Amino acid sequence: MAPRDGFQAEDAWIPTETKIAIIRQLAQTGLTSMEVTSFVHPKAIPQLRDAEEVVRAVQDETNLAFRALVPNVKGAERAISSGITKLKLMLSATDSHSLSNANATVKEAQDKLEPIIELAEKHDVKVGGSISVAFGCPYEGVVSVEQLRPILERYEKMGIKEVSLADTTGMANPKQVYDMLGQLQDEFKQVTFSMHFHNTRGLAIANTVSALEQGVTRFDSSIAGLGGCPYAPGASGNVATEDLVHALHEMGVETGADLDKVIASAKEARRLIGHDGGSYMLQAGPSKNLHGKVEAQEKLEK
Ligand code: ZN
Repeated sequence: MAPRDGFQAEDAWIPTETKIAIIRQLAQTGLTSMEVTSFVHPKAIPQLRDAEEVVRAVQDETNLAFRALVPNVKGAERAISSGITKLKLMLSATDSHSLSNANATVKEAQDKLEPIIELAEKHDVKVGGSISVAFGCPYEGVVSVEQLRPILERYEKMGIKEVSLADTTGMANPKQVYDMLGQLQDEFKQVTFSMHFHNTRGLAIANTVSALEQGVTRFDSSIAGLGGCPYAPGASGNVATEDLVHALHEMGVETGADLDKVIASAKEARRLIGHDGGSYMLQAGPSKNLHGKVEAQEKLEK
């Protein structure tokens, strides 16, 4: 449910207490893991400069496994010292995106990850990997398995067992997701893939279904659909958590989350932040809300 991706796209400062309030409410929904923040340089993303404060404040929320995105060793040190027990590393699938995001080529960025892993091992902290623009890059177009392979091989060499494939700018389509996952899971049997779909072009849920068909069970989303990517021009937010939970439950896929509570959290997040990021649930509500039935019931009561 990634508050990190949602918060970081907001230009207007979200007070630390507001961030904490949204996280605390999400902790009551039955969802089990959260990318709570990112330990980037405060100048790069000023909105997340309170990362330490936020993480320290929510340590009592034991329902949630918190993880944080870390771009470098300094970020990893900050994350670990504030109580984070799972780090997520960042790499891009293409040099163009990597240069604009991390000011380094993919290869250069990979070399910088080793010391983060050493540090995490020393502190017994888990590490997962991620690949941004894994399906399509706004600068280079469609991304192929050939481009992902060396990145995944390097992650494997570093002992990374979980990798998030991010459709950072919403360029993936369901057929591509199905085909690529089929091939990648075949080649990288030791890796557990998780998915991070943005809904930029309305395909996030369809892409989720494709990934489910390939056996993937971990998906990122963002409450109220908040978000975007500061380095990806024109990107909109992750699929809204409430839309994803609704779609999965309608298909009989268990998430452990309570949809009504997730929708309540989304409404509260929208109220606190002042807008949502294109959430269908906030607009139309769940499909179990039958309008005709409600009106007929009201007439009977009169
Ligand atoms: Zn994202």
